[in-house]
Amino acid sequence: MAQPFQVVRPPAAVEPLLRAQDVTLEYRSGARTVRATDSVSFDVYQGDRFVLLGPSGCGKSSLLKAAGGFLAPTAGSITVNGARVAEPGPDRVAVFQEFDQLPPWKTVRQNVMFPLLASKRLKRKEAAERAAHWIGKVGLSRFADAYPHTLSGGMKQRVAIARALAMQPEILLMDEPFAALDALTRRTMQEELGLLWEETRFTLLFVTHSIEEALVLGNRILLLSPHPGRVRAEINSHQFGLHSGGSAEFQAAAQRIHGLLFGGDERAAPEEQERIAL
Ligand code: ADP
Ligand code: MG
Repeated sequence: MAQPFQVVRPPAAVEPLLRAQDVTLEYRSGARTVRATDSVSFDVYQGDRFVLLGPSGCGKSSLLKAAGGFLAPTAGSITVNGARVAEPGPDRVAVFQEFDQLPPWKTVRQNVMFPLLASKRLKRKEAAERAAHWIGKVGLSRFADAYPHTLSGGMKQRVAIARALAMQPEILLMDEPFAALDALTRRTMQEELGLLWEETRFTLLFVTHSIEEALVLGNRILLLSPHPGRVRAEINSHQFGLHSGGSAEFQAAAQRIHGLLFGGDERAAPEEQERIAL
């Protein structure tokens, strides 16, 4: 039997850190327009591990690009601390799936220091200290002077995470950062990210098409249906963590999410959404 779903909402008085309101995203090329998302709304609160989950093509990356300020909504708005997102900024730092997101001519240390210096956040000495701290946090101190091409895929992603967290962004944006890794490394990286979150409580907006990954990492999950991306449901998943993967409750939750994602075209009714917070 599936557990009854329950929604735990933050107190109404707490303002969301990031608010997406009726966000419609489109790509125009010549006469052609592709609608990537249609009127998607969600609120991310301080300390959330908020996951956008849905099949390929449902607009997850587009939403993350919009949150990053790289893609302007055709309709609706995204705000961070009440201010409309209009361009990229150091308050929103992204980690992508691709292993080539690190300039190959910079060492690990130089890669992590670069945005700190380029954004004029820190002087060289402080930037070096901050970089050393985060390189240590992701377990790469011995590789601080190595170049990216000498590192494994998992190590490159650790550098990207260190570089992002060193910036102390308001919100860390991650677009399927572990999707190109082998299954074991992926699992390890999920654990490491969870541990980093336990320590630092950063706010995370995480994109994945993996139901298991969403349940393991997220405390709240937005389910999106594709073409164009629409909200199917929003669920609460804080009770699942790194070590609940094999449990019956976890499996049941994964099954129910699968049913919600692939079970029909319509948005779940609000009453149903109340019930489907896992
Ligand atoms: P997801 O990350 O969930 O797989 P995307 O946000 O990448 O989805 O894409 C959503 C939709 O927008 C898809 O139909 C995709 O083909 C389209 N799309 C994405 N990027 C572009 C682009 N640069 N130009 C035109 N269409 C795009
Ligand atoms: Mg994508």
